Formats: sequence, structure tokens, C-alpha cells
Amino acid sequence: MTTSSSAAPALPGGAHLSYRDGQLCMESVPLADLARAHGTPLFVYSRAAILDALAAYQRGLAGRRALICYAMKANSTLAILKLLADQGCGFDIVSGGELERALAVGADPAKIIFSGIGKARAEMARALQVGIGCFNVESLAELDVLSDVATGLGRRAPISIRVNPNVDPKTHPYISTGLKGNKFGIAHEQALAAYRHAAALPGLQVVGIDCHIGSQITEPAPYLEAMDRILDLVTQIEAAGISVHHIDFGGGLGIDYNGDTPPAADALWAQLLAKVDARGFGDRQLMIEPGRSIVGNAGVCLTEVLYLKPGEQKNFLIVDAAMNDLPRPALYQAFHRIVPLQLPAAGADAPTWDVVGPVCESGDWLGHDRALAAQPGELLAVLSAGAYSMSMASNYNTRPRAAEVLVSGDTARVVRQREAVADLWRLESV
Ligand SMILES: *Cc1c(COP(=O)(O)O)cnc(C)c1O
Repeated sequence: MTTSSSAAPALPGGAHLSYRDGQLCMESVPLADLARAHGTPLFVYSRAAILDALAAYQRGLAGRRALICYAMKANSTLAILKLLADQGCGFDIVSGGELERALAVGADPAKIIFSGIGKARAEMARALQVGIGCFNVESLAELDVLSDVATGLGRRAPISIRVNPNVDPKTHPYISTGLKGNKFGIAHEQALAAYRHAAALPGLQVVGIDCHIGSQITEPAPYLEAMDRILDLVTQIEAAGISVHHIDFGGGLGIDYNGDTPPAADALWAQLLAKVDARGFGDRQLMIEPGRSIVGNAGVCLTEVLYLKPGEQKNFLIVDAAMNDLPRPALYQAFHRIVPLQLPAAGADAPTWDVVGPVCESGDWLGHDRALAAQPGELLAVLSAGAYSMSMASNYNTRPRAAEVLVSGDTARVVRQREAVADLWRLESV
């Protein structure tokens, strides 16, 4: 554990998360002030960090016909959606609920794309009625149902087919959605037949092609390989007389959780665009669906140490945030850095702890074997908690969901109030 602010470690979150005089600050706001004012667990996001992450994509795609559709399942809090909509972003949605969130912040329906393998008829109908830009279709059966729903409404549904490029798993084992044998997308070999099927259906209008090869990708190679496979297909589909107006390349770019070094979005896109241009597709409209890389390192979750429970085999540091607030460790054994809001005094003893929450599950842990000088009542920050944290939070153990604060410069605004316990049974009856 670093013991002086001058030697404070570089933190994921870039310039917007730093120790100032030993106090962890988000932009110019000391996080301890927010914890005291609003309680814990508390999510805090940096507006500037979100805009910086977005700017890397905007630079990477500058001068192109391109649309950045933020994948809102990463964090669908309205204030964040509004911030991104105001920057001209579209949205990648995966449910009717996410559609309503996008509409609630005034998103342009034409910039909404609808992904996911299990769209219900009612969700399709609503999306058609508001006029979304594209349905990313994931199966032949879905093509038929969507055509049927659209015909019934006297419309044609704009579609892309999500193709599974089957990028080599051996060299890139972390890619989990672009392989054969997983539930997403249509196999590369079947894609042309699927496009022919779609083009013949009365309720559909083919507009693009889509892929999304996985998440937390930290190297350019799998993207470059997937782009080649997708461009091969575009050539084949167009040779069959079906125009492909846009290429949607999905999301998936990783962030720094624990020293990870993913390419910057602009550097990655420089490489991808060189390939697109070299192959003669430089004039196509491009769409991307980044989620984690926009918000992941823009957020932290503040938590208070409740108890120290030293043991023979393990020492437990029991905190007031839990798997219901931060599900990634329990779900994926994911790593989040955990740091004190106040740097400890030089030479302070920092034993090794398993940081765990109050939920009655052995899977309820936030970090294993962390050296921390914490005492009860002290405040910690779980870092890189902007993506797939609050949006995955639950009420397990009848725990109200945390509040959320958006920081900008030296100001902080509560953008979601803490749930009250009575909110949790509002829809129940005895
Ligand atoms: C989850 C998802 C994304 C976003 O992935 P990130 O890893 O958060 O960038 C994009 N597209 C689709 C279809 C997804 O399911």
C-alpha cells in the first residue's frame, strides 16, 4: 500500500480519479464528502471521464459516416444516457425497457438499434411504431416473426443480421460471444442464406450487417480478424444482389481493471479503418456499440468498512457494499481494485484481507487478498465500477439499491436516489 500522496498509485479512470492531499477525489470533489452526504454504498461517476472515453471513439471515427450507439446495458442510468444523447450518440438496446429509457431522455429513435436473441413481439411492435433505426436479428426464426409483426403494422423493419465470425478462440480465449457454440448470432457459413431469406420476406428491409465478438477485449488482433471476415461476407451478400448500407462492428473494447492495457479506441479504429479502406469499403456507414469502454472507468462504488474479522486461514474485511450492488466478482470472478478514500499514514500496517459484503452467500465477495490498512468506519472505493455494476444490481437480501451521483468539476448531483425499503415491496400484496 502506498503511504504518501506524492507516491500515490496511478488509478484506472485517468486524470479524473486521483489523490489530492491524501484524499481520493473524482474530478475536484473529495469522495469522502459524497459518502458522508449521501451514505454508502454510493456510486459516483465522472462526467469528464465519460466524455473523454467517448471522445476517443469520436476522434477514431472523425470524417466518416459513423454512428456511436452506446450499449446501455453497461449503465442505463438516465443522467448518463442524457449526457450521451446530448453528444449525438445513438443507443444499442436489448429490451423494451431499454427502449423506453432511451426515449425518456429524448433519444432520436432513428439512432436506436435493437440487439438481443429473444425479442418479444410486443417489443418489436413498439420499436417499429417509434421508428428505430435497425433491428440486429440473431436467428432465422426471429426474421420470420419480425417480418410478420412489421407486415401486421403495415411497415417494413430495417434489419441487420448479427453474424458470428468465429474468431479463433485459441489465441483469444477471452472472446466469448463470437464463437461457434454460443447462443449469439448466425454462423458465418449460414449468413448468406439468412440474408437471402431476409431479402425475400415482405416485412423486412435489409440495411446492414452486424457483429459483436465479445467483451473486455484487450488486443486489436481479434477485431482485425473479425473485420476481415465481415467484409468477406459483405462482398458475398452484395454479389447476391442485396445491398449492405452499414457495417455495425459491435462493442467489446476492454478497460483497465488491473493493469490491463487495451488499445485506445482511436488507435484501434485507425487500424480498423486502414483495413476497411484498403478493402474498398471506406464509404460505408459504420456503427459501433461500445458499452464498458465508455463508462467502466468513469465510475466507482464507495463503501464503508463495517467489521474486521481476522481468522486463522483468512482475514475478512466486511463492508456495506455487496454482490447485490457489485455483481461482477460473484458472476465472473471479476477483479476490481479497492482503495482507501484516505491514504493511510506512512508505515501503517496493511494486512491482507478478503473484502466481503453482508449478503448471505459465500460468493458475496468484492476482492480477495487485498492489502488494506482499513479500520471500521473507514471508507473504501471499489474502482472501475461504472459498467455492469449498477445496471446489474439487485435487491437480494431485501437490500435497497444504492444512490448514484454524477460529478462535474467541483459539483456533484444525485442522479438516482437511494431506494427506500418500502419501495421494495410496493408491488406486493399479502
Ligand atoms: C453487451 C453488448 C455490447 C457492449 O459490449 P461492451 O463490452 O460493454 O462494449 C455491444 N453489443 C451487443 C450486442 C452487446 O450484447
